[in-house]
Amino acid sequence: MSRYAYVNGRYLPQDQASVNIEDRGFQFADAVYEYFAVFDRKLADAKGHFDRLDRSLSELSMPQPMSRPALRMVIGQLLRLNRITDGAVYLQVSRGVAKRDHPFPDPAPLPTLVLTTKPVDFTALDAKAAKGVSVITQPDNRWGRCDIKTVGLLPNAIAKTRAKAAGAEEAWLVDDLGLVTEGASTNAWILDASGTLRTRDTQANILHGITRATLIEHLKDQCIPFSEKPFTVEEAKQAREAFLTAASAFVLPIVKIDEVIIGNGRPGPLSLRLRSLYMDAARRSAS
Ligand code: PLP
Repeated sequence: MSRYAYVNGRYLPQDQASVNIEDRGFQFADAVYEYFAVFDRKLADAKGHFDRLDRSLSELSMPQPMSRPALRMVIGQLLRLNRITDGAVYLQVSRGVAKRDHPFPDPAPLPTLVLTTKPVDFTALDAKAAKGVSVITQPDNRWGRCDIKTVGLLPNAIAKTRAKAAGAEEAWLVDDLGLVTEGASTNAWILDASGTLRTRDTQANILHGITRATLIEHLKDQCIPFSEKPFTVEEAKQAREAFLTAASAFVLPIVKIDEVIIGNGRPGPLSLRLRSLYMDAARRSAS
């Protein structure tokens, strides 16, 4: 089956799709992105992801590549072309093509818009969640604006590479105070020793995860004690449970941090409950 990508107004077989070598996304990582989970051809947490895209663009003074309804039409068409039922959409907007020079070009070029899709095997993801995954800890050496979802992901890629080499799923990043900020591509959560669910606050230098925000909304309905108080690596290692959240993983239980087994080494009951709660709600509200 031939896979199509969308690039600046054209649907092309993915192996023929390309952007200009002077694109600022390529030259300077001057680009932002979003990743949407797709349930039954519909986007999970669509509003949250589109709102965050708008914010990323506006923080970098980049124009919208097209209106939200137009973007939704293009995404719908690409999902149909690629026959995606359950999967993901990757969307990237760069500042566009300009002669290589650091300052933002004036006048601004047209932004570059690239969209791709992929099928995702949700059954395989469920199997991974049923077993739980491990994470390693790594220093957080990223820039100071991790709230903007840019494609400047080299520190994240290095941390993930180290995680992979250690046989782990993810790297939890740790700031200069020894506090966990987030994962290299996920948000970090623990159920601490006293039974409070904790994840880092969004005043910290982290991405404002959409899965994180949706889950917090559900926690309110479930009356689960919750706090955005930062936690240390030590607290995480002594936690009753740990898990990560992301549109690419939903809620994924963690059973090992570095060499320390969490709880009894199996996914915690609250993590599994929150996973099924999130999955059901995301599926129901996908649009
Ligand atoms: N933190 C980082 C650094 C990420 O890259 C991501 C997702 O790409 C997340 C957290 C999770 O965010 P979301 O739930 O919006 O996918």
